[in-house]
Amino acid sequence: MSPDLERLIKLQQAESAVAEMHARIAAHPQRVAAAEARLNDAKQGVDAAKQRLKENQDARRELEKNAAVYQGRLSKFKDQLSEVKTNREYTAMQHEIATAQSDLGAAEEKVLERMVEADVLTADVKTAEAGLARVQKEIDAEKRTLTEELAAAERELADATARRDTIVHDTAPALISLFHQVARARKGVAIATATRDGLCSVCHVRLRPPVFQKIRQNDEIVQCETCQRILYYVPPPPPVETPVVHQS
Ligand SMILES: [Zn+2]
Repeated sequence: MSPDLERLIKLQQAESAVAEMHARIAAHPQRVAAAEARLNDAKQGVDAAKQRLKENQDARRELEKNAAVYQGRLSKFKDQLSEVKTNREYTAMQHEIATAQSDLGAAEEKVLERMVEADVLTADVKTAEAGLARVQKEIDAEKRTLTEELAAAERELADATARRDTIVHDTAPALISLFHQVARARKGVAIATATRDGLCSVCHVRLRPPVFQKIRQNDEIVQCETCQRILYYVPPPPPVETPVVHQS
């Protein structure tokens, strides 16, 4: 293969690596933010569960206060019962006592409902907290991985940039400008293979036989007539000789 073609293939590898590493480095803050958003969701889940439990406790305290009021009223009526003078007063007081008792019973029932609900809500808080602990661990590990990946991408970017600069330094400027001109027009891919059946492997257009013939030689710069990419040819591997089994 011509040294120019070899250099351009390596230049393409270096340029593609540079572009990929730039993209990875650019995506890093967003990946960290996505991890932190997941952690935040888990934290909000815990806060919401705690808030529901707190509301339950507040409601229960309020109901207990009501129950205490009914209880006080009931005791007062019972004390007054011994002091009534007439049947009418007695009947009226009995009626007050029945009402207070019924109010007290209803309030106590509601307190019990809240207590049963509190058991469920307490379990919910524990589940949410366990979930948060698990997510926290995952996110810590993920962030460590992301930091390592960022460092690796920065190292590879430096390496690929150095490789590219060396190739650019060692290659004829006209060839480098052709390469960059095609790369700019073709999403960064300036050089590609021709397939064994004579197509450009990227734009899939069939190459004219004399063009394909030249490309197969791999000793000069030939561009696809359709997409302008520089083409080279990778010959098929030599056939593996299979031992012939003779049957006697
Ligand atoms: Zn093409």
